[in-house]
Amino acid sequence: MDIIKLLVDVSYFAAIFLFIMGLKRMAHPKTAASGIKWAGAGMIVATLATFAYPGVIDNTTNLILIIAGTLVGTVLAWVTGKRVEMTDMPQMIALYNGMGGGAAGAISAIELFKGGEHAPVIMVLAVLGGIIGTVSFSGSLIAWAKLDGRIKGVLRFKGIQAFNGLTFLATLALGGYIAFAHGDATVVTIFFVLALFFGVMMTLPIGGADMPVVISLYNAFTGLAVAFEGFVLGNPAMIIAGTIVGSAGSLLTALMADAMNRSVANVLFSNFGEAGSGEAAEYDGEMKSIDGADAAIQMAYAEKVIIVPGYGMAVAQAQHKIWELVQVLREKGVTVKFAIHPVAGRMPGHMNVLLAEAGVPYDIIYDLDEINNEFATADVAMVIGANDVVNPVAKDDPSSPIYGMPVLNVDEAKNVIIVKRGQGAGFSGIQNKLFFLDNSRMLYGDAQEVANNLIAQAKEF
Ligand code: NDP
Repeated sequence: MDIIKLLVDVSYFAAIFLFIMGLKRMAHPKTAASGIKWAGAGMIVATLATFAYPGVIDNTTNLILIIAGTLVGTVLAWVTGKRVEMTDMPQMIALYNGMGGGAAGAISAIELFKGGEHAPVIMVLAVLGGIIGTVSFSGSLIAWAKLDGRIKGVLRFKGIQAFNGLTFLATLALGGYIAFAHGDATVVTIFFVLALFFGVMMTLPIGGADMPVVISLYNAFTGLAVAFEGFVLGNPAMIIAGTIVGSAGSLLTALMADAMNRSVANVLFSNFGEAGSGEAAEYDGEMKSIDGADAAIQMAYAEKVIIVPGYGMAVAQAQHKIWELVQVLREKGVTVKFAIHPVAGRMPGHMNVLLAEAGVPYDIIYDLDEINNEFATADVAMVIGANDVVNPVAKDDPSSPIYGMPVLNVDEAKNVIIVKRGQGAGFSGIQNKLFFLDNSRMLYGDAQEVANNLIAQAKEF
């Protein structure tokens, strides 16, 4: 057996082992950071193995192109990765994911422009990988622009779903023609333009609020496209890595949609989540405010405090100050727990990542299912920058757009302190009934400033 081929296969096996171990370690916050390193090491091994491929090491032009591409990619990723703010992470994931889809689409383009060099089944896989990767590329770029506020609003017109359906069918038909009748360069070009256009048109009607779910779906698409192109190139690392990404992305998409009590189809084909699309409901009662000193007294003399962080904590980067406040309270004998809703923030695990970064111990961080029955025994529930995930209308108002979404039972606590800057709505754009309840008090201000003030006040008692 060719020794080089054996070496490449062994390296790919090692890379795949590292990917799977990395993914496994990412399943727990304690091991997640090392999981990224394992998967990164796998990526390095897989990249290095590529150099041993025939047509790479013995072809100077290819070698220069690959080294130049790797260098440009590494520098860009390093710089953007270092600079990105935690709140901009979903945008960055959208961009990187789009690049993966684009790369799969590019491989397909090279193979299809070459004409019918492959067996029919491989041509079909090249075409399918081409469509899925290209849609993921253009769709992810639109998702990035929406999340980044560069594209505002949604594009919807009567019959848009039918129009998109026809565009998709036309792309598929052209793809079939290319796979079986080997279309010329013009047909292949039209095929890719249509796929790009479909990705754009599929994403434009979806509300910015649903973009994280859409990005997760495109992530699954990218994985699938890479796996298909792996078959085309006969590259086992691409097949296995693509399949892992495809299945992990599909699972994540389903879990995110579930946590919002919606189907993936509802996310893709409804107009939910665009800011301002929610109904402005009126509730009995009024919003009552509290000042920092009174809020600090309530917490300092409480037996049990449950803190519910949300998107606003991420915006304010208040996690360090909140952990400092928790330490002050714990020194006074208060039992403090964190309650994390599965879709708090703007990406899965958003709150867990921030709290881990601040050094909050994992054993005081609880998931919704673990802690939801405990709110009734809490003296104080402090909601910090969360809104939708604590809105009781999800439990009792069938007319609400978020009805059925599991929410944290904050309303059952003896006292509720809600930290937010003003009257801003949450992601869904709807009013929060919690703010009008008798046991609720609003503590207005930026989450970090409020936490700072509470630390100073709590130390006094
Ligand atoms: P929300 O978006 O519902 O509410 C955030 C609140 O934070 C706002 O009401 C805002 O009020 C307040 N806020 C913003 N900035 C600050 C600040 N600097 N200091 C203090 N408060 C601030 O957040 P939740 O975490 O409760 O809910 C997440 C939402 O995102 C859900 O609707 C979920 O479905 C959706 N979503 C989540 C995904 C995920 O994966 N996590 C994916 C897709 C959607 P004000 O402006 O008055 O300060």
